[in-house]
Amino acid sequence: MSEAIDYSNNPLRGQVSITQVSKSFGKHKALDDVSLELEPGSVTVILGPSGSGKSTLLRTINHLERVDEGFIQIDGDYIGYQRKGDRLYELKEKAILRQRTEVGYVFQNFNLFPHMTVLENIIEAPIVHKKQTRAQAIERAYQLLDTVGLREKAHAWPRHLSGGQQQRIAIARALALNPRVMLFDEPTSALDPELVGEVLDVIKKLARSGTTMVVVTHEIGFAREVADRVVFMVDGKVVEQGRAQQVLNQPQHPRTRRFLARVL
Ligand code: ADP
Ligand code: MG
Repeated sequence: MSEAIDYSNNPLRGQVSITQVSKSFGKHKALDDVSLELEPGSVTVILGPSGSGKSTLLRTINHLERVDEGFIQIDGDYIGYQRKGDRLYELKEKAILRQRTEVGYVFQNFNLFPHMTVLENIIEAPIVHKKQTRAQAIERAYQLLDTVGLREKAHAWPRHLSGGQQQRIAIARALALNPRVMLFDEPTSALDPELVGEVLDVIKKLARSGTTMVVVTHEIGFAREVADRVVFMVDGKVVEQGRAQQVLNQPQHPRTRRFLARVL
């Protein structure tokens, strides 16, 4: 079998560079000249009002949205493109799909496969995309179920789990592909308040494990505790970014100040 390469000791793994990215929908500029550098193993929280381009930004990192200008690299690889001379050429569908298997994506609404058990949800992609044997995939799935504290739910159906449990399984499923970066798009905003904590706890645990993570959230307490960097977006632009404590405690931009005053 083709052994998946283990990059876990490679200090460069999970380096994300977003360079002067713009993206429009019709006349509306959803991303306007966005540049960000995410260090390997760092946790970046993206804040901003609704419609500011946060989800669009995450989607461009996976080439689910094609950028109009600029480019994105993970560990030096161009996402969705390859470089020939000084031009970028879009990759073929198959190569794009392969790149996507290296980016974990957790959505607001869990999106588990309803017709598969928890275990089947987790092992599906590693078997299909990483050519793992069923036995290898199952062994790893149980490790991940331990990580998210749900080993006893391996044979349960998603519909029998609470929203918080479903989201923890969605996180385990994303991790099963050993991604270079994990993207979370408002992972707790669809949950009842009493279920938010258990999902944030799992994400905190991951943060300590050295996975590069980008988390869109309105949970400022979480950002304060876990984020290395905070990015604040308005109207498709990054209006402020910096060390988490600095942006959260001493925001420089009036828009950031107003936003934080409202959500705190
Ligand atoms: P956020 O996640 O910060 O709420 P989004 O990235 O979802 O913001 O959206 C940014 C802007 O782009 C919004 O004005 C939204 O309506 C628009 N937008 C996002 N996706 C699409 C799309 N597929 N087609 C048209 N407009 C879109
Ligand atoms: Mg969004």
